[in-house]
Amino acid sequence: MSLAFPAAPQMMLPIAGSDERFPVHRVYCVGRNYAEHVKEMGGEVGRDPPFFFAKPPDALVTDGRLPYPTMSNDVHHEIELVVALGPDARVFGHAVGLDITRRDLQAAAKKLGRPWETAKGFDHSAPIGPIVRHGSALTSGAITLDVNGQRRQTGDVADMIWNIDEIIAELGKLFALKAGDLIFTGTPSGVSPIQRGDHLHAQIAGVGSLDVDVI
Ligand code: MN
Repeated sequence: MSLAFPAAPQMMLPIAGSDERFPVHRVYCVGRNYAEHVKEMGGEVGRDPPFFFAKPPDALVTDGRLPYPTMSNDVHHEIELVVALGPDARVFGHAVGLDITRRDLQAAAKKLGRPWETAKGFDHSAPIGPIVRHGSALTSGAITLDVNGQRRQTGDVADMIWNIDEIIAELGKLFALKAGDLIFTGTPSGVSPIQRGDHLHAQIAGVGSLDVDVI
């Protein structure tokens, strides 16, 4: 048997301080997981519990270059702590990630009750840094995002509505979690539009930083 055409390459992420690579299986995301962001999006804490969506693994960006997406005039940054799962769906480590969002398309989809793929799961919508190995879930740490040196997002991982262990438990009721899965755990408040030429500097205490240029 031979392939009709070459298979798409396996998405792999670097692991900090190691020659090994982290082979990516699926990319899950949590929506509305910080109270202040729920409020800025017009939701009500308690009434709008966190929920899940997904991005395709090949939406990950590892070279720090984010092409401004087509078909949108309102593209937002969302800094997120990413948890990486290893064998038996245990926490393998964490990374700094960005859930890049076509906010205008998301607003239209919300209004019409349509799915979010075009708003959330487009090409290059998930810039991510190297995986930092940790034996257990991060429960606190400052999380910030600067655009062109100006602070836009500030929060603390401790402010998540569902913490990482709760996210894994909830997500595991819906999907068979596997080694290689990544979960973007939601964004704190301060999301705002980005433009071509912007430089994004994302930082999470205990994990590291991620630098992205919008091109
Ligand atoms: Mn998000």
